[in-house]
Amino acid sequence: MKIEVFDIPDEGLDIELEETPKIEGIKITKSFKAILRIEKKGAEVFVKGIVSGEVELQCSRCLKEYTMPIKTLVEVTYHPIEELSKEELVELKKDEMDVDFYREGIIDTEDIIRDQILLNIPMKPLCSEDCKGLCPICGTDLNEFKCGCVVKEIDPRMAVLQSLLRRMKKNG
Ligand SMILES: [Zn+2]
Ligand SMILES: [Zn+2]
Repeated sequence: MKIEVFDIPDEGLDIELEETPKIEGIKITKSFKAILRIEKKGAEVFVKGIVSGEVELQCSRCLKEYTMPIKTLVEVTYHPIEELSKEELVELKKDEMDVDFYREGIIDTEDIIRDQILLNIPMKPLCSEDCKGLCPICGTDLNEFKCGCVVKEIDPRMAVLQSLLRRMKKNG
């Protein structure tokens, strides 16, 4: 939904909508609902509300697909990008966490939802906190099967200590 900033009334705007923004590499399994309160003060626009929906992600350990619900609070201040100088842009980005910019007098709610989805997707998605992942040797999904591989895990700090001890023994 595209909102003309000019059309936002003085008393503000309450909107409820549902959207499925296209995001590369992310599958949306439940379209996103947004309940938003939009207010305007001069050229600044304040957007507050809740965004919720569901996405499908791939677990970074076992590579299985799983769904993750997202429900998040939105609080963003919009500035018209055309009216700001470069210095002001830099200042705003530094000072305010939730600052965004609108172009040509239009705020697109699809962009708001897309940003919220991207902000809430973990860097390393996990199907569950204790996902055992795949065996690094044979590739078995260790959540479902056990394999006979022996994976040696040596803490690099311990390895240094061990070689140090060995040397000390030799010299002594
Ligand atoms: Zn997993
Ligand atoms: Zn294995």
